[in-house]
Amino acid sequence: MRWSQSLIPTMKETPEGAEIPSHVLMLRAGLVSQVMAGAYTYLPLGLRSLRKAERIVREEMDAAGAVELLMSALTPITLWEQTGRVQAFGDVLIQFAVKRQNRKVQMALGPTHEEVVTELVSRFVSSYRQMPITLYQVQTKFRNEERPRFGVLRTSEFLMKDAYSFDTSIESLNHSYEKMYAAYCRIFDRCGLQYLPVEAESGPIGGDASHEFMIPAANGEDAVLHCASCGYAANQEKAEIGCRDTALPGVPAVPLEKVATPGVSTIEQVSKFLGCQPQQMIKTLIYLADGKPLAVLLRGDHDANEGKVRRAAGAAKLELADQATIERVTGAPVGFAGPVGMKEKIAILADRDVQGMVNGVTGANAADTHLIGVNLTRDFQPDRFADLRNAVDGDACPRCSATLALRHAIEVGHVFKLGTKYSEALNARFLDQNEQLKPIIMGCYGIGINRIVAGLIETTHDENGIIWPVSLAPYEVFLAPVKVTDPASQQATDALYAGLTAAGIEVLLDDRDVRAGVKFKDADLVGIPLRVVIGERGLKEGKLEIKWRWDKAAEFIALDGAVETLAQLIRQERADGKRFRNTVVKK
Ligand code: ATP
Ligand code: MG
Repeated sequence: MRWSQSLIPTMKETPEGAEIPSHVLMLRAGLVSQVMAGAYTYLPLGLRSLRKAERIVREEMDAAGAVELLMSALTPITLWEQTGRVQAFGDVLIQFAVKRQNRKVQMALGPTHEEVVTELVSRFVSSYRQMPITLYQVQTKFRNEERPRFGVLRTSEFLMKDAYSFDTSIESLNHSYEKMYAAYCRIFDRCGLQYLPVEAESGPIGGDASHEFMIPAANGEDAVLHCASCGYAANQEKAEIGCRDTALPGVPAVPLEKVATPGVSTIEQVSKFLGCQPQQMIKTLIYLADGKPLAVLLRGDHDANEGKVRRAAGAAKLELADQATIERVTGAPVGFAGPVGMKEKIAILADRDVQGMVNGVTGANAADTHLIGVNLTRDFQPDRFADLRNAVDGDACPRCSATLALRHAIEVGHVFKLGTKYSEALNARFLDQNEQLKPIIMGCYGIGINRIVAGLIETTHDENGIIWPVSLAPYEVFLAPVKVTDPASQQATDALYAGLTAAGIEVLLDDRDVRAGVKFKDADLVGIPLRVVIGERGLKEGKLEIKWRWDKAAEFIALDGAVETLAQLIRQERADGKRFRNTVVKK
């Protein structure tokens, strides 16, 4: 491709509204252009990288035995009603009515395809002999994200590879799951990503039934707890906490005392007002667990983990109590709840860290009032202690004696053992060897193709621009003739371009009549792995300057046989990506 014949609108300045490196660089390098919040056009260079990511995903899915199909993005709303996901998705589901003759048809744009694929399978798979089978597609998904942001990392329209496995037993599901997990590792390795598979909330099957593939990045929206010592990694929703020190500090208990805190109710306000640390406060949250009020006590600096609370309460459904319930059970306005002297006797669960607190501060169950000098046993007694909070940086690892570190990350893929939720709702059953009718056991496996591209850029760039691995680069070689009007340069450039193209190498030729400095800047910004400079002096000496995007120094190769030398370098890098990995990927 000749630069002058493509559409590569590079920009010098940081575009307005772009906050993170991948977003800035995708705009500046002319990979994408925003249509509206949450929707982007892929320009020629961006599309090439996106297609490469897609191709790698497809090759590895095929190699793992998954079979490709393509489902419609338009779906009847009735399908989502059958599984209760109209409510579950809420405003995220993009739905609308269209007029067909005299009637209205309500539709939704698929945010994912469990419903569509399960309904399909219910029609065509009915015997154990037809399984296991894993179906996949690469298709546009639609989600009305509340906050589309960070360029193509979170959009309302995005490209997803979604796969669904159908098995006759849990053992067989485990096998399908492992195959997908291994395929994901190969995909992300080939894409040059630095990724971390982490345990995620597991849903109905429980145990080790879900993993997210995360790209650690300072701007990532997900939080991951990672133990560098034993390798344990889990997202914050799922992360367990190891042994906690709940020994009481050797401080004598002071008397319980009521203090006036007019108009002051949040942890931050109260700690400021009373001059205490949030760690000294006992945060009291009122939930409804399967409709029954429940008080949850946490240290003031900790956050409740609703999955943990729900499990500890043995409830199927957990939600924060409404204002009326809070006022009824505490006898006070919202913001002044505490475990001492609640108006109604309700179940109290306390996080383990509350066990180690002395002379705590908490709401007094009365308007504008707090209690200080609150002590366990003497003043209140929870029904039970349990792990109820999000793990934080520095917590003990649940698997070894080291500590967990909190890292921010971008979720790029997710594998999940679904069980029979969808097959039961949509009646996808099969006859087993004994002619018994059973629900099919499912798994689902998603990869955000756009996030592969943006996630890569987020982690592998420098102050000058993108650093692509050959596997995802829009082009592999960047040809930069210093002076396009010089006949000798022109001739050499044309020969290289034709030779490399004929050898199957993807070349971007910067044929613009601009200063070499401009070309070099754009070459760095766009990030093509191998830059070849064709200069008058070098040509006279029979040499070409070449430089890998990730190397500081340039090298020279002989002009004679240059096509073969360059093609060989690219072929090698295509095969193993070693130069990129050894130089760019952080260990
Ligand atoms: P998130 O928690 O980031 O919203 P999710 O858990 O809802 O993502 P899944 O339903 O697991 O996403 O979808 C599978 C994959 O699709 C994700 O791992 C991610 O890579 C990608 N993805 C999800 N939502 C978006 C989005 N709004 N924009 C771009 N990619 C997305
Ligand atoms: Mg997910």
